[in-house]
Amino acid sequence: CGIVGYIGKRDVAPLLLEGLQRLEYRGYDSAGIVVNSPKAAALKMVKAKGRVRELESRVPKRFAGTTGIAHTRWATHGAPSDINSHPHLDPENKVAVVHNGIVDNADELRAKLVADGVVFVSDTDTEVITHLIARSQADSLEEKVREALKVIEGTYGIAVMHADFADRIVVARNGSPVILGIGEKEMLVASDVAALIAHTRQVVTLNDGEMATLKADDFRTYTTSGTKTTATPETVEWEA
Ligand code: GLU
Repeated sequence: CGIVGYIGKRDVAPLLLEGLQRLEYRGYDSAGIVVNSPKAAALKMVKAKGRVRELESRVPKRFAGTTGIAHTRWATHGAPSDINSHPHLDPENKVAVVHNGIVDNADELRAKLVADGVVFVSDTDTEVITHLIARSQADSLEEKVREALKVIEGTYGIAVMHADFADRIVVARNGSPVILGIGEKEMLVASDVAALIAHTRQVVTLNDGEMATLKADDFRTYTTSGTKTTATPETVEWEA
């Protein structure tokens, strides 16, 4: 339902929780957040059924990080619950995925992964994306995500973090909005401009079939087949 992500220098958890609150008006049944501090390169996650306020109350005092992604979920596959909330991590806690939309061939992909020995912890369609990325042998995070998306049918706006590629967030869009927020030595991403305007007015709206890599001081866009695209930031006008 709602996505917010940030990479930069600021303490990311309060910023993302505030962003989620700005998406509350869209409706949701649960929420979650994952953050990473580049030095430790270990993902820390909290998720909760219910309000963003509930999530916030569960975030530990020490939850430092300067990169993170967060989500408000509107369940389509699997009941609203702590476990089914996003982000979804792989068993090694290296890959984190938040997802808006529906993976149409999730059952089929899940059956194949289970036959390969993968243990699923949630009932969501989204978790297949996490496992596909985690199991990819590709060298770059971009290529891992691309390989996963190749076998997925359906709609998605996704944001992906990986502990081994701690300097970036990779995002992709197909039928579900993904908007980049271009800041000063910081980059944001959201499914709704409402979560961005407190931080920047410079935005890039991804097209279907487009991906982006966000680093603290740089971003680039390309198609899901890897061809570079040009993205000129637009200025969002203030709406009171
Ligand atoms: N299909 C996913 C799920 O049920 C994402 C739902 C959403 O867009 O929030 O977990």
